[in-house]
Amino acid sequence: MAKSLCKWKKKDIDKQLHELAHIVDKPRYICKDCARASHDKGFLCKAVKLPLS
Ligand SMILES: [Zn+2]
Repeated sequence: MAKSLCKWKKKDIDKQLHELAHIVDKPRYICKDCARASHDKGFLCKAVKLPLS
């Protein structure tokens, strides 16, 4: 499985820009530690659900 976005380094982002675009599209969760956003909490180390309607 993909590792959490919180662990991504600059080279990971460069290599997986297309995958990253999908992961951060229409985010439903954010990471409480790093403020990253994702559509799936599995990609974040301390995921909290965004208060979206
Ligand atoms: Zn995090």
